[in-house]
Amino acid sequence: MDLLGIRVDNVSMDEAVKKAEEFLVESKLHFICTPNPEIVMAAQNDEEFKNILNSADLNIPDGKGVVWAAKKLKEPIFERVTGFDFIHRIFELGQDMDISFFLLGAKPGIADLAKEKIEEKYLGIKIVGTNDGYFSVEEEKEILDKINAVKPDVLLVAMGAPKQERFIYKYRNKLDCKIAIGVGGCLDVISGKTKRAPKIFIDLGLEWLYRSCSDFRRLKRIITLPRFMYRVKRSRKQK
Ligand code: UDP
Repeated sequence: MDLLGIRVDNVSMDEAVKKAEEFLVESKLHFICTPNPEIVMAAQNDEEFKNILNSADLNIPDGKGVVWAAKKLKEPIFERVTGFDFIHRIFELGQDMDISFFLLGAKPGIADLAKEKIEEKYLGIKIVGTNDGYFSVEEEKEILDKINAVKPDVLLVAMGAPKQERFIYKYRNKLDCKIAIGVGGCLDVISGKTKRAPKIFIDLGLEWLYRSCSDFRRLKRIITLPRFMYRVKRSRKQK
């Protein structure tokens, strides 16, 4: 589906997980993105970010907003596949298959805390490395070497969009892993530092809105949803 210039793949959760399984048996890096209304809007005035998203091997429809837009645009996307639920399915897969993970991102200490929580929940899972997401451009080579030294199958990059996607894209030919995926604030949530939104917000696909309201610094993000809806309606008229 073309959503305001971004390709979004019409996959169900099971299909997305199956795709990930296929990616894991190939030896090259596969880039997975999770476009939600906020990411789609961020790409509207950023051609480079738009191209990065469109270069992904898989763009999962992250959130109800995307499913709503697909319906408006008469495009076939029927199921939302949130990044958060998707990575949990990949952790489950990690228990069954021999898959190793590297957690990159969030404030110092958070990735280690998330590692402990994941290991508690998914017994036997292999998390082979962690690093916080606050490093300079000069330090990037060091981070790359740290990741490549342990050759994780799956690299989770939790540095927020578009920073995480830019990082993966920049090093797509140098990263020695099979899947790299941008996961936003997931490590904060998994570590317990940030609580997930109440179920009603999750069900409505408005978790990001709840978090925007509960964090003053994120308040300006609230206007993203009406802007997104307006743009989708306008693009439907132009079709
Ligand atoms: N972050 C990071 N490096 C940075 C900026 C942000 O690792 O240079 C982390 C930040 O600590 C947080 C995550 O990226 O854990 C971004 O979370 P946010 O909730 O803003 O992302 P979203 O889920 O909305 O994409």
